[in-house]
Amino acid sequence: MKILTRSRRIKSALQTVTKRLPGEARKTVEGFLDRVIASREWRSLGLGGFDPSSAVTAPLFRSLDDLGSERYTCQLIFHLPVVKLFSNTALIGIVAHELAHVHIAAGLGDGWHEEMKQHEPAHERRADRLAARWGFAAEIARLHEERRKTVNPILDRREPVILRRISERFEAEEQEARKRSGATSEDSNRRSS
Ligand SMILES: [Zn+2]
Repeated sequence: MKILTRSRRIKSALQTVTKRLPGEARKTVEGFLDRVIASREWRSLGLGGFDPSSAVTAPLFRSLDDLGSERYTCQLIFHLPVVKLFSNTALIGIVAHELAHVHIAAGLGDGWHEEMKQHEPAHERRADRLAARWGFAAEIARLHEERRKTVNPILDRREPVILRRISERFEAEEQEARKRSGATSEDSNRRSS
C-alpha cells in the first residue's frame, strides 16, 4: 500500500483507521490496496455534471492494453475539493467506508470492480455495515449527517461555479495539447526540410 497523497488530513485519517482495524482486516486491506492518491480538481461526470463523491475505490490499470480487462489492481482516490467540506470525524468515516470496500473487493477477487458497479447500492450498504462492525458506526453516522445537512447544500449552491471551473480547465488542457502538437509538427517540418 503506497500512500502517494501529501494531504496531512488524509494521511492522519488513514493512520487512525488502520490502527483501529482488526488485525486480519488490516493485513487484507494493506495487501490488496495498491496505492492511495488524491485529486485536487473537481472531476467531471460527463454531460454537464460533476462528481460529488469524497473518495472512490477504483481499478488501477498498469497499461493501455489492460484497459477494459480484469487485469487491474486496487487504488483509493480521494477527491480533495469534497473532502475539504467534511469534518475530521466524518473523514474517519469516509476512510473506514472506503477500506471496507477494499476488504470486500479482496474477498471477491478478479472482476471485483465489475461486480461492485453492477450492485452498487447493495455494496454501499455492505461497506457501511462492515465499517460499523469494525467499530466506526459513530463516524459513519456523522459522515451521512454532514453529507445531508452541510455538504450537499454547499455543492448545490456552488454547482454553477464548479461546472465553469471544469470547463475552463478542459479548455486550457485542449489549448495546451494543440500547442504541443503544433510544436511537434513544426519540429518535424524543420527536420524534414
Ligand atoms: Zn462507497
